Amino acid sequence: MTELERKQDQAPIPVGWEYETAPESRDIVTLRERYGHFVGGEWLEPKETYTTISPATEEPLAEVGQATEEEVQLSVQAARDAFENGWSALAGAERAKYLYRIARILQERAREFAVLESLNGGKPIRESRDVDVPLSAAHFFYYAGWADKLEYAFPNRKPKPLGVAGQIIPWNFPLLMLAWKVAPALAAGNTVVLKPAETTPLSALLFCDVLRQAELPAGVVNIITGDGRAGAALVKSDVDKIAFTGSTEVGKAIKRELAGTGKKLTLELGGKAANVIFDDAALDQAVEGIVNGIYFNQGHVCCAGSRLLVQESIYEATIDKLKRRLQTLRVGDPLDKNTDVGAINSQAQLEKIQELVASGKEEGAEIYQPPCRLPEKGYWFVPTVFTNVAQSYRIAQEEIFGPVLSVLTFRTPDEAVEKANNTPYGLSAGVWTEKGSRILAMAQRLKAGVIWANTYNRFDPTSPFGGYKESGFGREGGLHGLAPYLDFE
Ligand code: NDP
Repeated sequence: MTELERKQDQAPIPVGWEYETAPESRDIVTLRERYGHFVGGEWLEPKETYTTISPATEEPLAEVGQATEEEVQLSVQAARDAFENGWSALAGAERAKYLYRIARILQERAREFAVLESLNGGKPIRESRDVDVPLSAAHFFYYAGWADKLEYAFPNRKPKPLGVAGQIIPWNFPLLMLAWKVAPALAAGNTVVLKPAETTPLSALLFCDVLRQAELPAGVVNIITGDGRAGAALVKSDVDKIAFTGSTEVGKAIKRELAGTGKKLTLELGGKAANVIFDDAALDQAVEGIVNGIYFNQGHVCCAGSRLLVQESIYEATIDKLKRRLQTLRVGDPLDKNTDVGAINSQAQLEKIQELVASGKEEGAEIYQPPCRLPEKGYWFVPTVFTNVAQSYRIAQEEIFGPVLSVLTFRTPDEAVEKANNTPYGLSAGVWTEKGSRILAMAQRLKAGVIWANTYNRFDPTSPFGGYKESGFGREGGLHGLAPYLDFE
């Protein structure tokens, strides 16, 4: 044992540290008792409603609309009218002004959005405050910059907007997914009908307030709420494009529905990313990257580094460090600024995680969970590591979408590539090594849309994001993210 290893063994595990809680105040958010659909710049009284809750406490937050087919059609008609009666003819520089306004208002109201996002979705306030909300504003700023430069972005191709874009988003990054979809659509001159996920509608409904504040013309952005039935009705409606982020299963159903209709489609679906750690990697940083890769947002991340591939020679050291690090993660109240891992988004998602974790144990993997006191109410899952995982196990193949890591090992770069690519998905991957040449070689061979080197879960509006294989097609972010909202001559 080296001197360093001996010291590390003796380093105290701060498991006994008692922090005071540091709760963010909820007062900044004013919830209405009941929300309608936002159609043509007005609140449309919904025919049916349901209750949206806080997954951390199961406390009801508000009544929101469950859009009927008729209400979906009204929203698409409002978007069509807005497209034909002004928005599509507006100069790019004018469209840009609205996008800049939206971005600035999001920044001004950042704390309000962050608190609401954590309240309705269960994610730690640290993440909604430092990631979701600033990145959402950054997407509007970025695409505002392109709105009057489409001819330069796509020279000699005469870009034209498509018309009405139907957009369906999931519950893991409610405001950020809205920004990823709405900002490029508007910059390209389209109008929008957006459906947030059933469990997390509130930040999208607060965003309607921002649209009014920015004086965006009525009908340019319409927001309808409800479960999958509302999404299915939007897919069938008279839109020109569907942009969908969610499960591979629903993505496939949407593709079948749209086949032969001529409507454009982009799909951002699931993932089972490999986070590959070579033996020359800076191990402490890599362990931070592993933790960030899988426990960020409770692992409710399509590009989560859910499969850890560790080179055999550093396996034990990595797992030791990882287990010690896990003992320091704080799980609990999403509104506490000390919290690292918040609540699972819904009862249904918790059951899915539990079912897959049970399958991992049954198939023979070894489970590690740090000692952890979970709140009594709400939906929670302890950060979990599975070792001794075979490639064929369900926990190595299926998207768990929770704070659960499956660890596999490799000996050579070839074996790492083979194992990393051995899934139906191809959304993202991570590579940890000191060698630049190895990073480039791995990036060439990994079948993933996004590859991070010596970091993980980094997002930037200028950088395209999207997948291969069952992770979908089309890109969001960057110039690539504009093209799916344009027609070319
Ligand atoms: P879904 O794919 O069902 O949800 C994504 C969005 O699509 C939601 O707005 C949803 O509405 C809507 N939707 C559901 N059914 C239809 C339909 N038939 N037609 C059109 N829209 C529809 O994901 P789930 O929330 O059910 O999560 C299930 C699993 O999917 C997760 O465990 C995870 O593995 C994966 N997932 C992946 C995501 C990603 O980013 N890649 C994001 C979310 C989930 P509603 O909210 O009412 O269901």
